Amino acid sequence: MSLAPLPLSSKVTVLRGLGPARAAALQEAGIDSLRDLLWSLPYRYVDRGSLRPLGSLEMRGFEAADPGLVTVLGTVRDLRQSTTRVQRMALTEALLDDGTGTLRLIWFNQPYLARALKVGDRVLAFGSLFVGRHGLEMRGPQFEQMGREEDIGWVRRYLPLYRKLGPLTGRVRQKLAQEALGRAHPPEEWLPLELSRDLPEPLAAFRLLHDPPDDSDPALLESGDSPAHQRLAAEELFAFSLGVALRRAGRLKRHGLVVPTSPELRERLRSFLPFRLTGAQRRAFKDIVADLTSGRVMNRLLQGDVGSGKTLVALLSMAMVAETGGQGALLVPTEVLARQHAASFRRYLGDQADSLQLLLGGMKAGEKRAALARIASGEARYVIGTHALFQEAVAFHRLQLVVVDEQHRFGVKQREALKEKGGDPHWLVMSATPIPRSLALAVFGDLDQSVLDELPPGRQPITTKLHKPDAAERAWEQVRRELAEGRQAFVVSPSIDPSDEGKVQLRDIQAMEALLRSIFPDEGIEVVHGRLKADEMAARMGRFVAGGAKILLATTVIEVGVDVPNATVMVVDHAERFGLSQLHQLRGRVGRGAHRSHFLMISGSETERLQTLVETQDGFRIAQRDLELRGPGEFFGVRQAGLPQFQVADLVRDRHLLARCREAADRTLTLGLSEAQAAWLKREQVRLRLAEIS
Ligand code: ADP
Ligand code: MG
Repeated sequence: MSLAPLPLSSKVTVLRGLGPARAAALQEAGIDSLRDLLWSLPYRYVDRGSLRPLGSLEMRGFEAADPGLVTVLGTVRDLRQSTTRVQRMALTEALLDDGTGTLRLIWFNQPYLARALKVGDRVLAFGSLFVGRHGLEMRGPQFEQMGREEDIGWVRRYLPLYRKLGPLTGRVRQKLAQEALGRAHPPEEWLPLELSRDLPEPLAAFRLLHDPPDDSDPALLESGDSPAHQRLAAEELFAFSLGVALRRAGRLKRHGLVVPTSPELRERLRSFLPFRLTGAQRRAFKDIVADLTSGRVMNRLLQGDVGSGKTLVALLSMAMVAETGGQGALLVPTEVLARQHAASFRRYLGDQADSLQLLLGGMKAGEKRAALARIASGEARYVIGTHALFQEAVAFHRLQLVVVDEQHRFGVKQREALKEKGGDPHWLVMSATPIPRSLALAVFGDLDQSVLDELPPGRQPITTKLHKPDAAERAWEQVRRELAEGRQAFVVSPSIDPSDEGKVQLRDIQAMEALLRSIFPDEGIEVVHGRLKADEMAARMGRFVAGGAKILLATTVIEVGVDVPNATVMVVDHAERFGLSQLHQLRGRVGRGAHRSHFLMISGSETERLQTLVETQDGFRIAQRDLELRGPGEFFGVRQAGLPQFQVADLVRDRHLLARCREAADRTLTLGLSEAQAAWLKREQVRLRLAEIS
């Protein structure tokens, strides 16, 4: 009897052989429908062509054997459990036989394996070969228990492997996927023709991935770059792009506060400027003025390398609303930075400085009450603060503009909280990590973008060097020379997680302090780190900024913002512990004055990666390289940034596809979504956790 084809939305429970325990395990993993099942792709493919007969395995060279992974298939002939004599570890040994020869598989400290395996099992194992006391052996291999030959579907060259999911072995998952493929009804095409025409149809794509034909390209299967992968990636990226486009359309329909401009206002703004704007600053500010006067809600990302002068653009934007009766708030990630911004704003504002108000978590109760009152009455027209600005008690008089510095440190929720306080204020997000537009959209959702691609005049390039730990003396010599000239120095130590202790040989901040005090016994040294109370931190920073202390030893609390033009040298210990973009940010703390500056990294590893900083000072290039090396998740250092959870798509690898999806999404929206497309979009957004962007 042949069964009627099933729509992809059918529950997995329609499949045969899916009892309650298995169904529950699938449900737990978020796999409810046939569609979900088909989207759960194999994690690896075994190329039967690469299976090695056991009789063919042999030693190459003297000690280590075949360095790569070897895949073997055989029957377990013998199974033993014992304890090693020296370290008293549980040792599990299985002797594998495939008719051409035998191989010992061994595992340490996994005694449960002896129960999981039994003599007579057919096992597919992959791992590296070593020479043990009894000849060749495979240590700690991953393995899969296989059924009888005829049930595996080994007529095929590629065997897809699935991760075990509770009671569902990889083998069972493979069978379920096969059954789903066999019974699924081809779904309607969701993608617009401009995307779909070069890609396989949805069911065909799933078939290519769950049951790859013999002529598949194994390299593409492994890298996730095959046409079938691209088909699935396009679905994810198109759904994502539609979500962003819809959100944008929604924003453009909302009424934005119109900030009036006039020649007098422009004159007043000019009076705040101590110097001529760079061309890039002028262009960015023009974009912002256009937004603020458009009647639509601004949502703009201002990107610019460290030192490109974003703060001044923020000030001008806030001045525009402050000078016309509104309030602007600047949100920053740390109190150090808040104070720093407040100080520079006061300088720019001159006799208007009274209209500025700081709001910090660490304020004394009375001080805070006064601050809140000034914010609520509208007396404070420039408000600068940290997370404290999100508190319930904070009420604004007329909040019209929010500027967020280093946005990726703020969660989406916090942003929503602030939004609720002030109707629908304009948003300006500033980021010193220059990122490609495609990624900016992924992280920030719907945004317009202005880029400061020009540094203010008179900047000196910063000499960058990388020293091995045994040559660290060279770095300290440079520090000595700078101090002798009357300059100041930053020294940065990585913050060390207690779980790292003992594992790696790291010099922590206390050890570094002791070292610095022995090398520079006569110099004032201040030490700051994240565990200090806010006022203590401010006091110590203050002594360094005022020049009383010559050396500031810090963890990355100084990463953003700190402006001390007299500091001309920075030494970063254990530079390998930092991302490239983070190091570039740190480097931006020196080279802010008229004197030549030095950035010196001490590291014994990852020389090649760190060399990127020696070679270039272009933040865009550094960010790009960092992204390639670490992927977007690590790069932004957060999951909470609201990065969409793609299963197949990769924002770096698939950026060209994303660009096409964005164009297609704009066109689709102009034409109008079909009912089916709207339903599909809704489902995809839940699956991809794109809720925030819709
Ligand atoms: P960012 O926040 O982009 O890293 P800042 O706004 O802190 O950069 O500016 C870096 C330095 O450049 C500051 O000392 C600032 O006073 C100075 N600066 C900003 N704009 C100009 C300009 N147009 N001309 C000269 N110096 C400028
Ligand atoms: Mg800044």
